[in-house]
Amino acid sequence: MIDDRVPLSPGARRLDFGDRWEYAPAPEASDYVKVKSRYELFINGRFVRPRSSKYFESINPATEEKIAEIAEANARDVDLAVRSARRAYEKIWSKRSGRERGKYLYRIARLIQEKSRELAVLETMDGGKTIKESRDIDLPLVAAHFFYYAGWADKLEYAFAGRKPNSLGVAGQIIPWNFPLLMAAWKLAPALACGNTCVLKPAETTSITAMQLAEIFQQAELPEGVVNIVTGAGETGRAIVDHPKIDKIAFTGSTEVGKQILKTVAGTKKKLTLELGGKAANIIFEDAPIDQAVEGIISGIYVNQGHVCCAGSRLFVQEGVFAPVIQKLRDRIATLRVGNPLDKNTDIGAINSRMQLDKICELVDSGLKQGAKLVQSPARLPARGFWYPPSFFTGVTGSHRIAQEEIFGPVLSVMTFRTPEEAIERANNTPYGLSAGVWTDKGSKIFKMVSKLRAGVVWANTYNKFDPTSPFGGYKESGFGREGGLHGLLPYLTLT
Ligand code: NDP
Repeated sequence: MIDDRVPLSPGARRLDFGDRWEYAPAPEASDYVKVKSRYELFINGRFVRPRSSKYFESINPATEEKIAEIAEANARDVDLAVRSARRAYEKIWSKRSGRERGKYLYRIARLIQEKSRELAVLETMDGGKTIKESRDIDLPLVAAHFFYYAGWADKLEYAFAGRKPNSLGVAGQIIPWNFPLLMAAWKLAPALACGNTCVLKPAETTSITAMQLAEIFQQAELPEGVVNIVTGAGETGRAIVDHPKIDKIAFTGSTEVGKQILKTVAGTKKKLTLELGGKAANIIFEDAPIDQAVEGIISGIYVNQGHVCCAGSRLFVQEGVFAPVIQKLRDRIATLRVGNPLDKNTDIGAINSRMQLDKICELVDSGLKQGAKLVQSPARLPARGFWYPPSFFTGVTGSHRIAQEEIFGPVLSVMTFRTPEEAIERANNTPYGLSAGVWTDKGSKIFKMVSKLRAGVVWANTYNKFDPTSPFGGYKESGFGREGGLHGLLPYLTLT
């Protein structure tokens, strides 16, 4: 830990977070959760062995223990999944009324609610995120997305006045590992509501809850082939993108892979939406309520170990409040509890994979080499598993890699500014444009900033708030197309 404590003025008070008390362990029960030793592919309503005959391991990143084996779909498996989705589209799903489709989606939403505790535990075990987030954020939002789009299924004619909505056909959907079930819900719920069928590929490190979702589809008696789930790595994703019988590709993941997909899809009839990376500016003005803003910084960058595309990973603090903000932030990160993600008191869980941990370490090293100062929480990290303590850099300049590249971990880059114009200029000085945050007491300043920031979502005096009714998506290299809300229907329809 590098000490660069910023002095406060004499007599300045500091918050006492009560660290004289130690929390008793409060682990969430997990022994009742039935994890299969092996998960197959979900094609045409059934669990089937992969034609590839290959399986890969999914491990718990908090313990490095193997949880299960997951089938690896090859191009032949993807082809079977696409054929099944095509059949289901032509013979069943496109012929069902919106009311009927909505009925299934409501059923799925209710089943998710019923099983939410078990799904939250599995999400935490497989991905490393804390149980308090998977239980209180991910799962309620997953169910809410299915409920929300269930409501739209029979009202599409009213959604776009004077236009006739038509489904597209088969949607190929590829999702990342940071919010596995939530990303699946963001993709599947609107696609199904609009009358499309789906072939979904979860990320390699977090496939288990997608397969649990497949069981829910069976229980909801969703007609065979309407949703197919193929697990595997990048090659499986590529086979979906390349498949000629797919009408729509929806991808969430890195900008690098997004660009490859864009090239592949160019010149074909496939519709495309891309939800890619971000390097959001979280801007704190001198007139902001500082204690609340510090909580906003915490929820902006340390939630989900910083594995959040819209994380407020570049903090811009107006010069006059730099010292107190840094002091409070330093005090606050020291209280964040890092460790067993299944413990209900844990704030920071495990990093999703060794690969991601290596990427975080490499970028932090680059920050140190380029001259920034690192402040880290003194949290003791567990001996096994993948961990990174909550950290932030000061002394960052706009040209540092840590100010430009997505770290996708619990590491914040702090910079300062003097005027709103400078904040806007520097906030927009990034190839990304996914999200931003503004903290100020003045409503007029909020409106000014929001109209000038080139970001798909701008939060004011809050951060990382989500709702199914609210569209989400980016500008520039953060992608195009919107998920959520009325806008989230458009990527799955043509309007005539
Ligand atoms: P990747 O782009 O590597 O992977 C995303 C998904 O695409 C995974 O399912 C992956 O499979 C698959 N994939 C990998 N290579 C290919 C390929 N050539 N063709 C088709 N599919 C492929 O990103 P990460 O999984 O590492 O996720 C982190 C990134 O995602 C971050 O940059 C983050 O910003 C971004 N993200 C954006 C969000 C948004 O809404 N804008 C939300 C969440 C994350 P596999 O995992 O098996 O390799």
